[in-house]
Amino acid sequence: MSDLSFRRISRREFLKMAAVCCAKVGLSSLLLTSCRSTAPLEEPSPSPEPTVSATPLPESPTPAGSRFEPAYLKLHRSGELAKRAEKLWAIMENCRLCPRQCGVNRLKGMSGFCRTPGATLMISAFHPHFGEERPLVGWGGSGTIFLTHCNLRCIFCQNWEISHLGIGRESTAEEMADMMLQLQKIGCHNINLVTPTHYSALILKALDIAAGKGLRLPIVYNTSGWERLEILEVLDGVVDIYLPDFKYWDSEMAAKYSSGAASYPEVTKAAILEMHRQVGVAKPGPNGILERGLIIRHLVMPNNVAGSEQVMEWIAENLPSDTYVNIMSQYTPLYKAYEYPEIARRITREEYEKVVRKAQDLGLTNLDIQGYWWLEG
Ligand code: SF4
Repeated sequence: MSDLSFRRISRREFLKMAAVCCAKVGLSSLLLTSCRSTAPLEEPSPSPEPTVSATPLPESPTPAGSRFEPAYLKLHRSGELAKRAEKLWAIMENCRLCPRQCGVNRLKGMSGFCRTPGATLMISAFHPHFGEERPLVGWGGSGTIFLTHCNLRCIFCQNWEISHLGIGRESTAEEMADMMLQLQKIGCHNINLVTPTHYSALILKALDIAAGKGLRLPIVYNTSGWERLEILEVLDGVVDIYLPDFKYWDSEMAAKYSSGAASYPEVTKAAILEMHRQVGVAKPGPNGILERGLIIRHLVMPNNVAGSEQVMEWIAENLPSDTYVNIMSQYTPLYKAYEYPEIARRITREEYEKVVRKAQDLGLTNLDIQGYWWLEG
């Protein structure tokens, strides 16, 4: 488990390993294409009008030994990582791990809004993911761990079986650490924790164990963006790559589509600034792989429900112009979206282009519009 070198694996070998990972947690291979983020369902056809894109990968990436040292390693060596895990663990006694601040005692098995079963860790799947942003995927994939339940519970969630129903399997921090090491062993470029907020204490425990056994991959905190500053401060020096959504500009929209989370815009803006303070602008290395930085995801929604242009304006006004912004086009009306006529369709090409043009006009230079092909003319 302490082999730190990256290596190429054959397609056959990869599929075999991915199947083992999925089988371990009892899920079908369907989950290989399921993600709350950017996973396309099929290979894109050539984009007719590529206007901008985030940093491309080189033709032949070289899997040379990386000198990268993840942020958490220093904290692990000093014993600070274990202390941080304990700090988050203690917060679960009167749970305030997320902005809901339910105050339930999860250490006694109580569940709050997120429905997480007390302090028990539940994982749906772990496997290399090839549908994330290119600097995360590279050639070996992003080592994704899907965590069950969610504190936001959007009514259009594409992973609603995992986030709303909590479908997954009970795991321990030790088992999660082994998953991280397995993902490293098969050549993934990072550990990508999907919807981590309500499990942050257990994640830090697992990370401390995995670091002691040789984990050296960067940690990706793949979050809705709705994070408390108090918790982000505990994660300072632990997380290498922050991957937050910026879902809504308007608090009424946030409340309507994300279970009453009216504070989403204000809380998320503050959270993104703190994330940027901690890890800075996302700058992939010469091999195209990202090891540190902030990537903001924004999902364009029908009828401007997300307030996309205002979101772009805020980013341009408050963050460097080369901030990596993934403008996502793949909104699909899933789960209960059909109960809301204004979001019961995909977006149009015109809606998407308007947001991209706005971002360009504002001077944002590091836009990821890889999803452009998705839209019909
Ligand atoms: S993590 Fe869950 S229990 Fe804790 S405050 Fe958030 S919603 Fe409530």
